[in-house]
Amino acid sequence: MKSLIQKITFVASLALVGTGQSNAGESGIEVMLVSGHVSSPQNKPNTVGAISYSGVEEYRFNDRLLELFEFDENQIAGVRYQLIYATENIELRERSNLANRQKPDLFIEIHHDSARESDRLKANEAGSDSDIWNRIKGFSVHYSTDSHNAEDSKRFATILGQEMSNSGFQPNSYLAETMGMQVVDQKLALYNRIRPHGLYILRAIRVPLVVLEVGNIANPNEEEEISSAVVQQNVVDTIRLAISRYVSEIN
Ligand SMILES: [Zn+2]
Repeated sequence: MKSLIQKITFVASLALVGTGQSNAGESGIEVMLVSGHVSSPQNKPNTVGAISYSGVEEYRFNDRLLELFEFDENQIAGVRYQLIYATENIELRERSNLANRQKPDLFIEIHHDSARESDRLKANEAGSDSDIWNRIKGFSVHYSTDSHNAEDSKRFATILGQEMSNSGFQPNSYLAETMGMQVVDQKLALYNRIRPHGLYILRAIRVPLVVLEVGNIANPNEEEEISSAVVQQNVVDTIRLAISRYVSEIN
């Protein structure tokens, strides 16, 4: 109940600073929402992303979530989204250059995770109801102390991790336990991407930014959950809530 009251308070406080319209004017906050990967990669490091348990390319999951941000009911007063789809095939470096030219107040790149081939094979053999999949599951939020604006990036990453957790999504522990990535807060699945697990965009883009791994699509159970319209809307609502909180904190 407490978190619900907090959520209502945040939304109410944002409404006061917002324009009251679905899209902000020039004085509003601009959030660049980017779908990870491209649909037709021409060269490395551009790819279609992970392949799900049932054989669907990751970029389709990323783009599907982005589409939901087009709907009127998913706008935030005082916030303007700029949506970059994987099907636009803007390659990795150009996406970074675009963000640096446009200078949004916040940059969020959406991904869906996978696992090492050896782990996937072992889990696939054990079957979809195997406990092994419980380890290969969940969301994670990535920022980097190597980013130009590490402080605000970590601030938003923390808020997003808290809201994903509040919404009932399971934090991913696989990346820390198996891949050896630096986990800053396990309950929030908050990861600091520094060498040897650095990410190009976290170093290249000069505005506050995070990468959200929504869940693990190599996991048959989680792929099914993430494919449901109800869960997808829940993810979008959670991201919106996190943006609202961030905006009210920086204003
Ligand atoms: Zn990805």
